Amino acid sequence: MNIQNYINGQFTDPISNEWLDNYCPSDGEVYGKIPNSSIEDVEIAYQSAKSAFGLWSQTTLEERSRILLKISELIEDNLQELAEAESQDNGKPISLAKAVDIPRAASNFRFFAHAITQFFSESHESVGQNAMNYTLRQPIGVVGCISPWNLPLYLFTWKIAPALAAGNCVVAKPSEVTPLSAYLLGDICNKAGLPKGVLNIVHGSGTTTGQAIVEHPGIKAISFTGGTKTGAEIAKIAAPMFKKLSLEMGGKNPNIIFADCDYDDMLNTTVKSSFSNQGQICLCCSRIFVEASIYNKFKTDFIEKVKELKVGHPSEDSTQIGALVSKAHLKKVMGYIEIAENEGGKILCGGNKVTVKNFENGYYLEPTVIEVTNNECRINQDEVFGPVVTIMPFYSEDEALSLANQTKYGLSATIWTNNLKRTMRMTQQIQAGIIWVNTWMMRDLRTPFGGIKGSGMGREGGFEALRFFTEQKNVCIKY
Ligand code: NAD
Repeated sequence: MNIQNYINGQFTDPISNEWLDNYCPSDGEVYGKIPNSSIEDVEIAYQSAKSAFGLWSQTTLEERSRILLKISELIEDNLQELAEAESQDNGKPISLAKAVDIPRAASNFRFFAHAITQFFSESHESVGQNAMNYTLRQPIGVVGCISPWNLPLYLFTWKIAPALAAGNCVVAKPSEVTPLSAYLLGDICNKAGLPKGVLNIVHGSGTTTGQAIVEHPGIKAISFTGGTKTGAEIAKIAAPMFKKLSLEMGGKNPNIIFADCDYDDMLNTTVKSSFSNQGQICLCCSRIFVEASIYNKFKTDFIEKVKELKVGHPSEDSTQIGALVSKAHLKKVMGYIEIAENEGGKILCGGNKVTVKNFENGYYLEPTVIEVTNNECRINQDEVFGPVVTIMPFYSEDEALSLANQTKYGLSATIWTNNLKRTMRMTQQIQAGIIWVNTWMMRDLRTPFGGIKGSGMGREGGFEALRFFTEQKNVCIKY
């Protein structure tokens, strides 16, 4: 299946006629082509967004909200088709795409459709000076949204929905590895009555299409989710142009397990926080630190559960671990398992490629648990982003804290304990943008989402996203 760009409400081929192969991770076959859009395509997308901005920015909040709600409804109506596309493109189990990815994409539009009607700005009366200040929040203009392959439609819409709700027009690029669901979104937007040019979707590689978006002088803000190295490259280009930037990047999240936790809940959730989506979620906890007194018990129980996980073709309902996203990524992840072994890590389970009958060329890997003895090794410092976790014991709260913070990343952390005072101490001192206590990946879309250190700059979610996608102006009126 060949996909096309979505510009000015129409589907078009790239001007250069350059195409990239689209691989299906579950069987390793090429099943389509995607445009490798050039600067010229991005320019046309930009011009179409610019032309649409005048009307869209003046469209009433009720009307914008109505259209976004319609998009949300149509995503729900097309759940099966979108979930199949996501699973085929990404290798994730269809059950996960149906339960998480696509419903969340619909929620993103629904949430921001409502949020924009409740968005407010501040006013300050300058007492004794007969003056009133108020903050005017206006849409920025044309903004760029660039998203990764791990949660394709989920993260694509997480950016687009608030950008549109706030009255901006958008030039967006999904990952070239998983473009299909974004392509299908174009048709949904037309059916929902989104005016032409308000959303433009250009496909292509990061260094061609993505960079053209970042470099475009008329695109005033960039919301990016992806790797830390890419985020740094984008910041380097955008900084001298003084673009507004929101960067959501990589992580190396700790899962800190104290002996006083609710053990069964912790164990079941830890399997999920380690291996959901083949470990390819930025919030997955890849470093598990366990209080020494329960370390051996945890090790035995955890390995037993991990060995039960069913690796298989993503279209099977019983599959829990699907295929990794690409051949290159599988190679990278397997390379890290080798590095870990060379560094003295002990593989407790997994570590091998899996051959799925009839899909021998798919990119399958066993969920892998590695025991390590220090936190400085590369497997504990580099983001692997696959079904690989490490475990090691700790002997005190201070040690757990220092292990958790000993990383260049700071996206999320999970703590398992029933001790309230410890919870308060740890949550105050852990360097991460999101901390879960006795749960994982429980999301409320009103909350600020993002990381610190090498994991992020700025926050998305709730009103934070609407603030990012608006420019503030202080107006002072003397009366
Ligand atoms: P990536 O950085 O390779 O690519 C992300 C997007 O940026 C893609 O659309 C890509 O084409 C584009 N891109 C690449 N180079 C570019 C450039 N020079 N200029 C402009 N755009 C460019 O990341 P990925 O491999 O697709 O995704 C995995 C990474 O994303 C992991 O590091 C993961 O932790 C991170 N991630 C973070 C979050 C978060 O919320 N913090 C969420 C999901 C994924």
